[in-house]
Amino acid sequence: MTLTAKVLWAMVLGIIVGLVINLTGLNAPESFTDEYVVGGLFYIIGTLFITALKMLVVPLVFFSLISGVFGIGDISKLGKVGAKSFALYMMTTAMAIAMAIGLAALIIPLFNTSKAQSASFVGKEAPPLSDVLINIIPSNVVEAFASGNMLQIIFFSILLGISLLMVGKKAKGIAEGVEVMNEAMMNMVNIVMSVAPYAVFALLAKAVAELGFDLLAQLAVYVVVIISALMLHLFGTLMLILKLFSKLSPKIFLSKIRDAQIFAFSTASSNATIPVTLRSVTKRMGVDNSVASFTVPFGATINMDGTAIMQGVATVFIANVYGIELGLSGYLTVILMSVLASIGTAGVPGVGLIMLSMVFVQVGLPVEGIGLILGVDRLLDMIRTSVNVTGDAVVTCIVAKSEDEIELETFLNKDAGIVEELEIDEKDEAALAEVVHKV
Ligand code: ASP
Repeated sequence: MTLTAKVLWAMVLGIIVGLVINLTGLNAPESFTDEYVVGGLFYIIGTLFITALKMLVVPLVFFSLISGVFGIGDISKLGKVGAKSFALYMMTTAMAIAMAIGLAALIIPLFNTSKAQSASFVGKEAPPLSDVLINIIPSNVVEAFASGNMLQIIFFSILLGISLLMVGKKAKGIAEGVEVMNEAMMNMVNIVMSVAPYAVFALLAKAVAELGFDLLAQLAVYVVVIISALMLHLFGTLMLILKLFSKLSPKIFLSKIRDAQIFAFSTASSNATIPVTLRSVTKRMGVDNSVASFTVPFGATINMDGTAIMQGVATVFIANVYGIELGLSGYLTVILMSVLASIGTAGVPGVGLIMLSMVFVQVGLPVEGIGLILGVDRLLDMIRTSVNVTGDAVVTCIVAKSEDEIELETFLNKDAGIVEELEIDEKDEAALAEVVHKV
């Protein structure tokens, strides 16, 4: 069985176990299951795994970006990759939210939505766009790395890559070292991925065990409209864009992006999924690291199609509940604000709701209205994060194809880059030990 198949089985099993715990009421507060199984074992395994993935992100992005800059070797090409991916990311996000608002406006008013069950929610005001722009440059690199500020890390790594290129031949040793570190980080991704089946099982069992099905039923219209819009965007819009702009097969693409989707679904974080997305597009689809090392972390930060869809539907839903008419200009502001909000916010769990509160402040909707949808957000977060990550990979493929930086042979080979059983080649080990000895 391939790792993907194992992880898929773990997912199904996790959902079943979660359902059993949930529906039998085994996880009553302070019960044994609640304290030691769901809140204990599952929580610990799941958190360890997500932490391990997060641990990989910063060094992986750093080394792969520098190696990417070396790989491109041409600064104007770097600019083109940046401009194209930025435009595509903004375009797909705007399309996603416009479609979501349209769909929600058609369906939600047909149902009687009431203010049932509201949790309190404290929002946040949008930072001015000037701050978002200024913050791209880190004043302190160590701080940027320590806090995992992705845009700042991208900026510094590219600048360092370019500066090393300018040094020329003398930097050969460093270039080789970076290549080796990049390969080592990819091996680390494989090591962490190899325990995914256990972790995905624990993450899903916990998430499903804690799902509030009553609330889900009450908010059925909201949930169904969001999931439908997400699926429409994932299988419709994104695949159409992929086919139109790159002529690559959506069917092959979908089969190869599955790992990243499952990881995004289980972790609800595009950022934590960066290592897997990067692995999927480079090793499985054949995108050159020079493009992917930039577009993937960039996309995880600024591209959130799924989140934008949630924001569109939530705006219509809450406006409907409160009987507020937003009008065309109101909705256009929502579209613009969500696209802008996605630029400055990192892909971490639950951040979509904070972005939503920024949008609400702008269009004058009651921020406390977000409390209405809080209870079902975890599940929707998991699904929309998969869409976010798929969007990153679609744009990566399109940009790579347009720059002729994708190996079609790898893309078409269905077995390319499949994660296999981990094994350490003893001959490799011995060879390295010998070299070190000689030194
Ligand atoms: N969890 C999402 C992500 O990481 C963001 C969100 O919608 O809350 O992409």
